[in-house]
This record gives sequence, C-alpha cells and structure tokens, in this order.
Amino acid sequence: MKCFHDPTTDAVAMCPGCNRGLCHACTTRFSPMVCEPCFLAGKRKRASEIHARLAISGALFVGIPALLFGALYFLLNVIVEFRDPLPWGYVPIVGAIVVCLYWGNMPMGRPSLEDRIRDELHPGAALFGGLVRLVLAGILGVFAAPVGIASSFAELARIRRTLREMESAGSSPVASA
Ligand SMILES: [Zn+2]
Ligand SMILES: [Zn+2]
Repeated sequence: MKCFHDPTTDAVAMCPGCNRGLCHACTTRFSPMVCEPCFLAGKRKRASEIHARLAISGALFVGIPALLFGALYFLLNVIVEFRDPLPWGYVPIVGAIVVCLYWGNMPMGRPSLEDRIRDELHPGAALFGGLVRLVLAGILGVFAAPVGIASSFAELARIRRTLREMESAGSSPVASA
C-alpha cells in the first residue's frame, strides 16, 4: 500500500480513523497518529461540540429565568393581582445557578443503565440520589462553569488558528494536535 498523501512512498501504517495508508513522515505529523482529513474532521467535530455547550449555556442563562419569572409575573400580576414588583435582580443569579448546575453535572456523566434500573426499583433512593447529584452539581459548577466556559473559548480559538494555518499553508506543514 502507498501513502495517501505521498502516492510514491510506501505506507508503513494505516490511519485508525479511515484505514488510509500513511508513510513514515505522515505518521509523525499528528499526535495521536491520523491522516490529515481525519485530523481536520476531528477538530471540526470538537469545535461543534464546544459550540453546542456554549450555546446551551447561553440558552439556559436567558431561557430558564425568563420562563421562571415570566410564569411568576403571570401568576402574581394577572391571576392574583399582586402589585409589588418582582425581585428582578435575581434574574441573572437564577441564570448563573442554572449554568453552574449544567457545567457541574457534566463531569458526573450520565447515569448507567444499571443505575436507572435500580432507581426504577427504589424511587425513594432515586429521588435522594437525584437531590444529592443536584447539590453536588451546584457546588462543582461554581468552579466548573467559569473554568469550562473560559477554556472552551480558548480551545475554540486554538482550533480556529490550527484550521486557518493548515488551510493557508496547504497540506504540507507539520502540525500538532
Ligand atoms: Zn484517516
Ligand atoms: Zn505520507
């Protein structure tokens, strides 16, 4: 087999992503070893994952307080005719708490199938577990949210720079992951 990138050179390895042949020089271009199209696809996929997280964070920050305070406003002013102003100052605080819960919950992963079956059998324990998880997510989120959001923006900038450099330089330079 020949290298997909240097068709005159014998391949010494295969890209684990797509099984294209890679010559010795191509095996050292990216770490971990992949071909250039797989490297670029991986970077683009990672960038879209980060975009999605940031978009969800923004939507939660705006959307949940809007829903909550909208419902409260409707309830108090339209139905009960309560005339005092609502505590609007809490709107960004509620938004921040929701964003902290979102980022704090992420490192804990999804509950496994085994956990879900056990929770079905013991609804009380599931409720308790859920509450413990919520509190943990809140505590963890105070650190995870600002760090996660800042590092997401930094990683996006790095990915954009790498993609731009590779596009402007054609396919020749040695780049690292
Ligand atoms: Zn590949
Ligand atoms: Zn090659």
